[in-house]
Amino acid sequence: MSETLLRDQICELGRSIFERGLTHGSTGNISARCEDGWLLTPTGSNLGKLDPARLSKLDWQGRLISGDQPSKENFLHLAMYQERERSRAVVHLHSTHSVAVSVLDDIDHAEVLPPLTAYYVMRIGSLPLVPYYAPGDLQLAEAVRGYAGKHHAMLLANHGPVVAGTSLAAAADAVEELEATAQLFLLLQGRRVRTLTPEQVADIRRRYPAA
Ligand SMILES: [Zn+2]
Repeated sequence: MSETLLRDQICELGRSIFERGLTHGSTGNISARCEDGWLLTPTGSNLGKLDPARLSKLDWQGRLISGDQPSKENFLHLAMYQERERSRAVVHLHSTHSVAVSVLDDIDHAEVLPPLTAYYVMRIGSLPLVPYYAPGDLQLAEAVRGYAGKHHAMLLANHGPVVAGTSLAAAADAVEELEATAQLFLLLQGRRVRTLTPEQVADIRRRYPAA
């Protein structure tokens, strides 16, 4: 895919995410690998109003090659790419329901959400909670790196989800599935719930091996 097309796709996805209220203000960031580096939404940018020509382009040491200054959360994306060679795109949001789940006191830190639906198992599968560090703290990048080898999706405590995919569309689908599942999980609080059984989860994983 040409870099021009990729830039347009990042902006189109940003607009779609913002207009549907999946992130707010100038929160959230989107990145994708290109031929000679990677593209990231700039610092302080509103995902609804991105300019393809001003996206930050970085090298694999995280240095700016061209465009506006990158998001302060650039190191989260870099850690994901460095640990996941097959990942082509990363989406990080402050989506309301996922953030709400990330602040619950009694969640399982190894497996934050239960397998409520087949699509959650297919697109997320397993979701660890990354311990809280202040935005911009490099310890957060190292914590993300620690999970990235085994997980394409993770939830940052008191912050939001980070999800990688084999394409921009795959990363977007996965982070949206996560947000929808977090909303279901909250809707079901206090109710008796029938999750998928371990056998049903294993069957889905056989049919749809993780990308
Ligand atoms: Zn963030």
